Amino acid sequence: MLNLLKTHFGYENFRPMQAEIIARVLDGGDALVLMPTGGGKSLCYQLPALHLDGLSLVISPLIALMKDQVDALQANGIAAAFINSSLDGGEIAGILNDAKAGAVKILYVAPERLSTPSFSKFLSDIDLKLIAIDEAHCISEWGHDFRPDYRNLKRLRAAFPKTPTLALTATATAKVREDIIRQLGLDKARTFISSFDRPNLKYIVRPKHNARTALVELLKRYRGESAIVYCFSRKGTEELAARLNREGLDALPYHAGLDAEVRKETQEKFIRDETRVVVATIAFGMGIDKPDVRLIVHYNLPKSVEGYYQETGRAGRDGLPGECVLFYSYGDKVKHDFFIERLEDPEEQARARQKLQQVVDFCESFTCRRATLLEYFDEKPARDDCGGCDVCLEPREEIDATEATQKVLSAVLRLNERFGAAHVIDVLRGSENKKGLERGHDSLSVYGIGAELSAYEWRQLIGALTARELLEKRGDEYPVLGVSVAGRHWLKERMTITLPKPRPPVKARAAAKAPRIPLGGDGDYDYALFEVLRALRKRLADERGVPPFVIFGDVSLRDMAASLPKTDDDFTNIYGVGAEKLKRFGPIFIEAIADYTASESADS
Ligand code: ADP
Ligand code: ZN
Repeated sequence: MLNLLKTHFGYENFRPMQAEIIARVLDGGDALVLMPTGGGKSLCYQLPALHLDGLSLVISPLIALMKDQVDALQANGIAAAFINSSLDGGEIAGILNDAKAGAVKILYVAPERLSTPSFSKFLSDIDLKLIAIDEAHCISEWGHDFRPDYRNLKRLRAAFPKTPTLALTATATAKVREDIIRQLGLDKARTFISSFDRPNLKYIVRPKHNARTALVELLKRYRGESAIVYCFSRKGTEELAARLNREGLDALPYHAGLDAEVRKETQEKFIRDETRVVVATIAFGMGIDKPDVRLIVHYNLPKSVEGYYQETGRAGRDGLPGECVLFYSYGDKVKHDFFIERLEDPEEQARARQKLQQVVDFCESFTCRRATLLEYFDEKPARDDCGGCDVCLEPREEIDATEATQKVLSAVLRLNERFGAAHVIDVLRGSENKKGLERGHDSLSVYGIGAELSAYEWRQLIGALTARELLEKRGDEYPVLGVSVAGRHWLKERMTITLPKPRPPVKARAAAKAPRIPLGGDGDYDYALFEVLRALRKRLADERGVPPFVIFGDVSLRDMAASLPKTDDDFTNIYGVGAEKLKRFGPIFIEAIADYTASESADS
């Protein structure tokens, strides 16, 4: 298997769990594979498929992705093909004939194909060696992406009871997991769960102050790299994209309200490295398998922690660093509330509220973001300090917050525990808001006693006091602040408290001075050569009508720019270079590297 891995994919070692999963399949057993995005699920069926003598069938709901996946396999010299609605009848018949004749080893199909008479006929004529069900959570109504066509898979299983079946997903909740097993009748399957930690991703939550300037600065740092900016509304994506263009950043909007043609074109441009920034609603992403997205921005608050994990998961699939930045404002939460209130099913509404509250808690808490995410998936974080989130990277000084806490708790009590944080803060700061003036809040003893802190700092203190359970948020629709039993006790006993020092509101720095981020963790390679190779890759990809990453991923190019291969032997040692890629692209890249080094030494 290691030989096949090197020859076809150019990799030296298995990733965690891959070897066990492959062994299980070759042993004839079923398996349920839970791995995060970028974990290397595909290899778990592609490698056995290469080894097995006969046809392997891969079910995938993402029609837009099939071609890229098949292109990538073919670039590695693997006989793969796909059938979906983008092909005409003649093309499909041709592929099915090839498959019957043994000229196709891996066949990708969409689930709806299984119910067509011609495909059923095809299946009854052949013997399947392996069935792989990608995005297996689509069979569950508990998941976020239920596809009725996935129910066809029960029949497929019944038709091939002895064929080893592999169900794979990056959706981890226990409920979905159990549902997949039940729905597919995978009761003898072994379950492989790998960690959902994405160590190469950095999670940053930022206050939404001067957010547009901060975003421009961030994107300028990532100029030349692929980035996705998620927004709440369709209109928001268009406005923000226009604004970014005015700032000299080349960005396109994407949302479900755009023409199918326009959407397709934007997606293509993104995949082909022609547009680096897409400003999108969450409609963008499911069909995107781009390995080198370096930055994911949530410009508005996501709807659920699970959604946030999925969306940020699209960064750094190739294992190189990725950054995920969320701009948090409580006002965004209120925007979501507006839509939640309009949901008709009370159960759905309650679920949506709870999920939204979890996101708010995530943003307002002072605990490691990674740990919070992992705990959400019932996983115990390995360390307290992950070194890769804003909380761990910018540890905060603890201050004596006794006086500030007394002020907040008193204000909440004076307001009879009937107002939300925004109003409490207005009263503390002596802001003349209309609601307060009408109710005579300006004559309360607590009015204006907290003018020394900004509203933003007060919000953080209130968040911290809620986490410490001295304050509590009550009510679903418009939560009001209340003082807990512990809070009353704290006041009465005149206790003291230390809290993390609130951050002052940030002033965005001048965008122009932002340095560009060099790609990669260790950074020990020739950046200029990397750019040369990137341009070469783009040219070769365009000539062949495939996305650039099908030729080589960034990791491979970086490896070349670090080790400067001169011979075929050198080139074989490059990450991601197997026999086929050596033959097809070795000479071209070796020559480009030689030209570059020659011109460099001529210059000096
Ligand atoms: P998933 O489907 O789990 O999101 P993929 O199968 O797309 O992940 O794999 C993510 C990336 O990791 C791909 O570029 C893939 O080629 C690469 N990869 C997979 N297995 C290995 C391995 N053993 N060694 C190095 N790279 C690997
Ligand atoms: Zn952390």
